[in-house]
Amino acid sequence: MTRSELLIGGAWQSPREGGGRLKDVVSPFDGRTVGQVPISGAADVEAALESASHGAQIWRRTPAHERSEILLRAAALADERSEEIARVISAENGKTLKEARAEAGRSGSIIRLAAFEGTQLYGQTLPLDANPGTGLDKVGFTLPQPVGVVVAITPFNYPALLVNHKIAPALAAGNSVILKPASTTPLTALALAECFIDAGLPEGVLSVLTGSGGQIGDQLAADRRVRKISFTGSTSVGEHLASIAGVKKLSLELGSSAPVVVLPDADIELAASAVAAGGYANAGQVCISVQRVIVHEDIQGDFLDALSAKVREHRIGNPEDDSTTVGTLITETEAKRVEESIREAVGAGARLELGGDRDGAMIEPAILSGVDPHSAIAQDEIFGPAVAVSTAPDVRTAIELANSTDYGLAAGIFTNNVDACVQYMREIDAGNIHINWTPLWRADLMPYGGLKASGIGKEGLRAAVEEMTESKTVVIHGRPWT
Ligand code: NAP
Repeated sequence: MTRSELLIGGAWQSPREGGGRLKDVVSPFDGRTVGQVPISGAADVEAALESASHGAQIWRRTPAHERSEILLRAAALADERSEEIARVISAENGKTLKEARAEAGRSGSIIRLAAFEGTQLYGQTLPLDANPGTGLDKVGFTLPQPVGVVVAITPFNYPALLVNHKIAPALAAGNSVILKPASTTPLTALALAECFIDAGLPEGVLSVLTGSGGQIGDQLAADRRVRKISFTGSTSVGEHLASIAGVKKLSLELGSSAPVVVLPDADIELAASAVAAGGYANAGQVCISVQRVIVHEDIQGDFLDALSAKVREHRIGNPEDDSTTVGTLITETEAKRVEESIREAVGAGARLELGGDRDGAMIEPAILSGVDPHSAIAQDEIFGPAVAVSTAPDVRTAIELANSTDYGLAAGIFTNNVDACVQYMREIDAGNIHINWTPLWRADLMPYGGLKASGIGKEGLRAAVEEMTESKTVVIHGRPWT
């Protein structure tokens, strides 16, 4: 799929002066060129901003039921084109076709949920007479409205899911959107944007700027016409955006090093199966991937045996083969980084139970045991198919270790002890907590977002629609009754 034009305000337009060079999108598995997209320049960004400002005015005056109808048509198109979109995801991202199908297959339902939430913009009435000095002569209420122009910036790891989680609620709430997808995975974003355009989105409401975030990001993020930035990506880029955004709303879905605690009374087979899935899905490139397991020292041996047996069943290879369970990392450079992190962990005293070898952009699923919980492999986000196992003597220490990183996106615990569950959910610093499952689980409607360096704000369609709106407080002043 080659695009030589940019989608600006819903129309395909030739890049302006300063932009327009084509960038190859390549398969991380075999290096073949999957497509090409233009690199946007400053004049293209300005055109998108101007168009979005205009589009925001049209769209906020479009009744919610009409917006919803357009979104429902987009959902139907996303369903119809699901197989095509899955193939684009797998080709440009390197995840298995099976994973790509599951991801693409969620698009329609995400858009439908957003369409519904966009029709539910309730305000609240204010009991003003409860405030001394006011009486029954006044009526107060809040009036929600779209924020205006939303800039959505998305990462490579879920090129459809995370685009949908931003553009669907933003549009449902009545905003115009400028989407900047990851440079490595722009084709999926364009294929999804086409569903919305073909569904009848008015002029100006949706733009997609392909090209480098480092080059056009500041111009987009700092612009005063933008009222909201919804960013998913690394903590370092999120911090940079926060520093230049100025006065606007921010949602930041950032990095993680998600822990799972396994207590002695846990169902070890269940825990091992869940970690064998949750540590390696998407080749470990998931913000909620299981990066750390903190296992009670009494059951470490049994847990490692059970986990190793299940991880050995994974197969790396061609993402399009049915037998492949773990695809490639996004680039060979990223795979080399992960390989090096594993090597460093071993240098720091960890034991490599299995895996860790690299073949191009692929890494054999790895398990490290005896990991120092304060070492880099535990503390820094690895974003690859490796799980670091440490031990703890009791639940209190396990919780302290689970909380010991800068991050706080998601956490899991395996136990049948209700007291331990309650203590865990109260004490753990994580935005999503799973009891008897790993953090690698998400229902699209649930509020989803991190604490600490993992971000601010929530996604999930109801929460996202709320974050993409703002409310005005209105007071009607009647005359005092006599
Ligand atoms: P990234 O390097 O931070 O890039 C994310 C997006 O930001 C890309 O579109 C990138 O564009 C853009 N970008 C880069 N520099 C920018 C700048 N100066 N201004 C504006 N935009 C800029 O992250 P990634 O490597 O794609 O994704 C992996 C990270 O995402 C991990 O840390 C992961 O944990 C996090 N993530 C978090 C969640 C969550 O829900 N918390 C979900 C998924 C992923 P280019 O591609 O053009 O550089």
